[in-house]
Amino acid sequence: MGKFDWFWKAMGSTSERNDKKSKGIVATAHELMPAYEGRSDAELAKEIRATVVDGQIQKKPEFLAILSVASARTLGMTPFNVQNQAVLRLLEGDVIQMATGEGKTLVGAMAATGFALTGKRVHVITVNNYLAQRDAEWMRPLVEFFGLKVGFVTESSEREDRVESYRADVVYAPVAEIGFDHLRDNQITSRGQTVQARADVALVDEADSVLVDEALVPLVLAGSKPGEQATGQITEAVSHLREGIDYTIDADRRNVFLTDDGAAKVEKSLGIDSLYSDGNIGTILVRVNLALHAKALLIRDVHYIVQDGKIDLVDASRGRVAELQRWPDGLQAAVEAKEGLDVSEGGRILDSITLQALMRRYPLVCGMTGTAVEATDQLRQFYDLRVSVIERAKPLQRFDEQDRVYVTMDEKFKAIVAEIAHLHETGQPVLVGTHDVAESEALADALMQRGIEVNVLNAKNDAEEARIVAEAGDLGRVTVSTQMAGRGTDIRLGGADEADHDAVAELGGLAVIGTARHRTARLDNQLRGRAGRQGDPGLSLFFVSLEDDIVAAGGADEKISAQPDADGRVDAKRIHDFVAHCQRVTEGQLLEIHAQTWKYNQLLADHRAIIDERRGILLDTDRAWVELSQRAPEKAAEVEAAGVDKHVREQAAREIMLFHLDDEWSEHLAHMDDVRESIHLRAIARETPLTEYHRIAVREFKELAQRAVDRAVDTFEQVLIDDRGAHLANAGWKRPSATWTYMVSDNPLAGGGNSVISGIASMFR
Ligand code: ADP
Repeated sequence: MGKFDWFWKAMGSTSERNDKKSKGIVATAHELMPAYEGRSDAELAKEIRATVVDGQIQKKPEFLAILSVASARTLGMTPFNVQNQAVLRLLEGDVIQMATGEGKTLVGAMAATGFALTGKRVHVITVNNYLAQRDAEWMRPLVEFFGLKVGFVTESSEREDRVESYRADVVYAPVAEIGFDHLRDNQITSRGQTVQARADVALVDEADSVLVDEALVPLVLAGSKPGEQATGQITEAVSHLREGIDYTIDADRRNVFLTDDGAAKVEKSLGIDSLYSDGNIGTILVRVNLALHAKALLIRDVHYIVQDGKIDLVDASRGRVAELQRWPDGLQAAVEAKEGLDVSEGGRILDSITLQALMRRYPLVCGMTGTAVEATDQLRQFYDLRVSVIERAKPLQRFDEQDRVYVTMDEKFKAIVAEIAHLHETGQPVLVGTHDVAESEALADALMQRGIEVNVLNAKNDAEEARIVAEAGDLGRVTVSTQMAGRGTDIRLGGADEADHDAVAELGGLAVIGTARHRTARLDNQLRGRAGRQGDPGLSLFFVSLEDDIVAAGGADEKISAQPDADGRVDAKRIHDFVAHCQRVTEGQLLEIHAQTWKYNQLLADHRAIIDERRGILLDTDRAWVELSQRAPEKAAEVEAAGVDKHVREQAAREIMLFHLDDEWSEHLAHMDDVRESIHLRAIARETPLTEYHRIAVREFKELAQRAVDRAVDTFEQVLIDDRGAHLANAGWKRPSATWTYMVSDNPLAGGGNSVISGIASMFR
């Protein structure tokens, strides 16, 4: 908890005041609307601009009224007052909490249009590719009404499309594409190659997913350059180790530790004295740990599959092969070695950025989600964002039943199947949220054995997934899906056309069943939020067993005795309190990991910003030529004397300097990664790991900057520079011929699954 909590508590009243003020504005806007309804499109587009002075919205009620009339005219939706209220809060830079189905897409587009009218470029950050395109196309008429441009970027967008889209006023794109384009833009050697244009505002849909759950996920740009190979020898040495004797695994199966016996065996097979000696700790020990992680914690066909001679990661929460994902290089190689595959040329990491660092680059961040309140602490701590709760247009009619707790997983499973069958008998649609694909399939099997038809959501693309989720409210439908699947899709009662709406409402609406509580109450609420949309009736119910992960992780050593009934169910206040306690513990653990990891990332992010700035100067000015001629005047004179055109020699100098800057940065990232993985071992008995890490990072970064310039001077002196520029490739200074991007999977905050990063993060404690 931050030191200034008392301060923030005292500030609570401010947001209420803001709330009152916005409500007043919204009410006035509502009254003004009829007056604008008679105006022509052109008049409205002109008048709204008059409400903006010096990039500030001066007449908010008028502004909002015109925006609303435009929405009605272009999209056929007249915004509800609560939506207008949300638009205002977004324009103020808050994260708004708005329940599922309350119309966040429209709210986001209105706010984005509002920002654009004040001269700001907005990135609307969507959950996936499918929604980027869908929302951009759906909202296009509204944005264009005011003469503004809207664009979208998806994974499959071509370069030219991206260039054009990023120059629109409002750009819809998933966060990964924005990050990858940013990374690629940081490899260019002349300004004309830039793909992304500067944006002033990030408006984040499902803000808690991006800003909190996935905050620590690094986006990586890698290039082809043979790296260090993971040796088969280490894999071989580790393959003989036995659990419980040579290594131990912690309770939640996230970390694995060598025992003294295990270390001795490895040392013997590798023929080395000690894994923990200064020379081995940052190199061999790291790779032994990776090999052990690959052996003990990553299970074939659960965490990955082997296909066409290569490893494909399985994204457990979504249940599909994660095309763009790789483990961090060393681990990927370790798993390949374990499976006896060709160890892929360790592509070299050219650059990487976490989602959190990416988002902090925007001068203004705002967002929307159904579950912001529970993320208030993180949003404030990591982004300095406030949360505004927007009331529902119609009161919530969903009934949240108390958890049903069972002693064992088996008993819980039986009870879940029975409950679904029971609900299904009447025709009430049921949506079941599971924790992974294996569980989804087991449940579907059990239900089918009872003759119940089940829609299992394991589609291979977002659009297909959206279609199936959209049908989850059909009469008599049973849908089994993992938690995140189809997020952002509207579930209407009685089908997409709502033909059977009233019949389904009569039966109690959509029933949502959670097969276990999540690591945070927020994730539970995301699932609950799928029922009870727009004042519809609905039901939510979670099942828990005392063998569940969160009970193991959060209840650690506490023993709880229970008197189960014949079905294994326990129902006492004490038990419910205990489950709630376990969840609070896991929430605390996640927050702690986030805070800790952030401290490590922050310094690198600062350094990255310095490199960014330096790159900008080198790209946009003649600084490279000036610096190099000062350091190597003879060579400069020679090039000038040869009559090489001014622009050509400046570009040559630029390419030389940028090459070495990027090269050193890439080295720096790799080196700091190693330091980070071994720091907890190095720092023992000296300073705290974090202080030690910072000390090394600062020193290394200073040296990096110096080395980049020194090397550039050397290259400048050696390389041929003529009318065609600097012949860098001939001198062996080649940029990677191919680059590729990926997200490092398995982030600790997403909860569930096995986590590489948390494994590493937990070493810091
Ligand atoms: P959310 O993202 O908040 O879950 P959506 O943006 O998907 O919700 O909107 C839910 C549904 O409500 C959509 O079908 C949309 O067309 C509809 N909707 C939103 N706002 C309005 C409005 N002001 N009037 C009529 N329908 C609306």
